Amino acid sequence: MKKYQLMAPGPTPVPSQVLLAMAQPMIHHRTPAYEALFAEVRAGLERLFQTSQDVIPLACSGSGAMEAALVNTLSAGDVVAVVSAGKFGERWVEIARAYGVEVVELKAPYGESVPAERVAETLRSRKDLRAVLTQHSESSTGVLHDVRGYAAVTRATDALLIVDAVSSLGIADLRMDTWGVDVVVAGSQKGLMLPPGLAFCALGARAWERAKTSKLPKYYFNLLEERKFVGRNEAHFTPAVSIIIGLREVVKMLEAEGLPNVFARHDRLARATRAGAAALGLRVFPRATPSPALTAILAPDGMDSEKIVAAYSETHDITIAGGQGEMKGKVFRLGHMGYAVEMDVIVALATLEQILSDLGLPVTFGAGVGAAQKVFAGKS
Ligand SMILES: *Cc1c(COP(=O)(O)O)cnc(C)c1O
Repeated sequence: MKKYQLMAPGPTPVPSQVLLAMAQPMIHHRTPAYEALFAEVRAGLERLFQTSQDVIPLACSGSGAMEAALVNTLSAGDVVAVVSAGKFGERWVEIARAYGVEVVELKAPYGESVPAERVAETLRSRKDLRAVLTQHSESSTGVLHDVRGYAAVTRATDALLIVDAVSSLGIADLRMDTWGVDVVVAGSQKGLMLPPGLAFCALGARAWERAKTSKLPKYYFNLLEERKFVGRNEAHFTPAVSIIIGLREVVKMLEAEGLPNVFARHDRLARATRAGAAALGLRVFPRATPSPALTAILAPDGMDSEKIVAAYSETHDITIAGGQGEMKGKVFRLGHMGYAVEMDVIVALATLEQILSDLGLPVTFGAGVGAAQKVFAGKS
């Protein structure tokens, strides 16, 4: 028998109550029923994004919302700085260049981060910077960037801070209004435990002002237009109705747990995963602050990490992820975001023990699991 489990850094498992909610018959979006649904979801989104501004849903994947954030706040020839220390940082660079936006890359090696002080220095030396673009959680390396620090230095300048929070919203604390983050981008299929296909852009007051003068081409992604509809609990184009229905359940679940508890849970799962890996003699990849969404672990010396990924899937019916780009073959990534609890980490680590043993490495069964249990018991 196969019991399939999804433990990748997105998409993530969808809770059964959410799946059931989404299975109800389709409703039309130009109806009072949809408006009532969206009014509820809209208020919930503001709380999840920790903002008093409208959060704009878009029917696309997270990268679409990244593109929307960029084309609504910039003009051709603008100069931006990009924190680039992984695949998703590189995506910001690619989108910017595709639109003729000039990029100053703030590069760090994979596994590392860019200190806020370096962002501050760049802002001092390049007064023409119109925005700083970053990830919060860089999912390709498992690093959490210092968004709070970046906000502290950007908010004192004219540059907007645009944050890809696709793998941190509902996972790690991100106080959009309080910290002064100008744009937050998120997606449905990570911390929000929904199917892929819905993404979000939240703009702060400064970003909405900037949007009025942004000249990059846009039609579907025109957020000022979309905001007019959102303000009436409507949508300009056909929304991802089913996922919005699921989102209503997700908001209820996250708020029943309480956002601080949601963040603490992810932190606990991440600490336990790291402790488990270390107890098995493995090294986690990040040299900077690790993300609570996922753990990138280096394969044992001389072993291709794809072997571990394949064993998870082929022998144990668990989908995890390998390395991307230059990390291919070097790391494997365990997701523990969204609909993830302590016993999921136990399963992931117990499976890892079996895989390492099957691959001929000396393993003390229970060592990784035990280290995680100590974290859960508050004993390490
Ligand atoms: C998943 C993810 C995205 C979005 O990817 P899509 O495949 O377009 O949904 C963007 N940024 C980060 C950090 C991610 O983890």
